Amino acid sequence: CGIIGIVGTAPVAERLVESLRRLEYRGYDSAGIATLEEGRLSRRRAEGKLRNLEAVLREAPLEGRIGIGHTRWATHGRPSVANAHPHATTQVAVVHNGIIENFRELRDELLKDGSNFESETDTEVVAHLVSRELRGGRSPQDAVAATLPQLKGAFALAFLFDGEDNLMIGARKGSPLAVGYGAGEMYLGSDAIALAPFTDTIAYLDDGDWAVMTRDGAVIRDAANTEVTRPVQKTTASA
Ligand code: GLU
Repeated sequence: CGIIGIVGTAPVAERLVESLRRLEYRGYDSAGIATLEEGRLSRRRAEGKLRNLEAVLREAPLEGRIGIGHTRWATHGRPSVANAHPHATTQVAVVHNGIIENFRELRDELLKDGSNFESETDTEVVAHLVSRELRGGRSPQDAVAATLPQLKGAFALAFLFDGEDNLMIGARKGSPLAVGYGAGEMYLGSDAIALAPFTDTIAYLDDGDWAVMTRDGAVIRDAANTEVTRPVQKTTASA
């Protein structure tokens, strides 16, 4: 299971899949990506090997310059297209590695509030929580900041927002996540190997950190929402 995100200056779909291939060694049962197509969130997902996702993308290509990708190792909900990540509402798409331990309570509450679920995953609550905050008028940053403290368990998360061509948010607690620095592009990835084709310059998020990324860079905050700097390192992972 792995995560990749690209805030790019050229179409990202092929690069997302290339990066997911580098994360195959972790094991997975399905895969998917989301990009912004003329500003609108669009997803492509497939069960099984990455070549199945590539076949879906050949039939229905994505051209967006910003996107997130995921290989899933199912913990809640069988391997299927509906349970494959990214999970999304019309406003936000999310990929997740780990387990949201209190997802049942959160889902019950969201169901009462009118959210419609389309998967059996623990992850989908995260999309609906952020969406509810967005509907309440919060900015994407504030919506994520309000959501993260509600999540129990372990997670690496990457968020993509409808209509936001220059914004990606990543967060980690208990699962690894690194921010990659490129020339006019920024990246998120589970490890340096995933990012190696794009950059050798990365900062590992600390536990509890979350990062707001644009093409110009990243602002990293800790669990108390204090802005922090994390060491930027040169990796030796080979492209
Ligand atoms: N718990 C999530 C799911 O079952 C994420 C699994 C993973 O880490 O890939 O969809």
